[in-house]
Amino acid sequence: MTNTSSQNDNGTYRRRRERLVQTLRDRGIQDDRVLQAVGAVPRHKFVEPAFRSRAYADEALPIGMDQTISQPFTVAYQTSLLKVQPQDRILEVGTGSGYQAAILCEMGARVFSIERHKPLLARTKALLDDLGYSVRTRHGDGTKGWPAFAPYDGIVVTAAAPKIPDPLLTQLREPNGTRGGRLVIPVGGRGGQTMTRVTRSGSGPHDYDREEYHNFRFVPLVDENDDEDA
Ligand code: SAH
Repeated sequence: MTNTSSQNDNGTYRRRRERLVQTLRDRGIQDDRVLQAVGAVPRHKFVEPAFRSRAYADEALPIGMDQTISQPFTVAYQTSLLKVQPQDRILEVGTGSGYQAAILCEMGARVFSIERHKPLLARTKALLDDLGYSVRTRHGDGTKGWPAFAPYDGIVVTAAAPKIPDPLLTQLREPNGTRGGRLVIPVGGRGGQTMTRVTRSGSGPHDYDREEYHNFRFVPLVDENDDEDA
């Protein structure tokens, strides 16, 4: 590709991103910092080349290895529920394409991300490094969280969880004058899940507030007991 055509491409992608931001606004996303991040992350780099022309449509797309990059609306919705502040420590379960992690980086968070699929993680880590997104990644079962870097201000699970894994609750930051850590997780079976936010409200085992939001459909969260291809 010549310089000129790549510059044109960048202009095209930028305009498409701006339209995507408007679409998300129209669909009810209000958090300006989230919208700004969507306007900044080059989503076309996170999808397979064959799907680049559709990278800024509000749809999920295949990323190979039987996995998908979430729909932009879903990413924006989950990120809004997380209430990310700059410098927050955020744990993501299900790195996938790396798009959600990049959005969190754009918002100034310190991002930790776990993926069970090793070849996918290797590819994604290389892409994130390449684009200058500094994300700490780990290959493993995210239902156990990542205790070494806990507590987290936010944990976002990007796969469908039949139930909320306990370790994720205990790795949320306790409130200390400010708001406690938030866990945003789609809870339910393969047919559909309810987006759920759990906020830590104290140090006790029952000090958690639970709120339920809209329904979504994610690929399943697979724990190590039914690991067939990790
Ligand atoms: N956040 C991703 C979307 C990921 S799709 C993005 O922005 O593109 C869900 C991902 O969760 C898949 O890559 C899948 O391999 C991974 N996954 C499923 N179960 C997991 C587990 N127990 N631990 C870590 N990753 C898991």
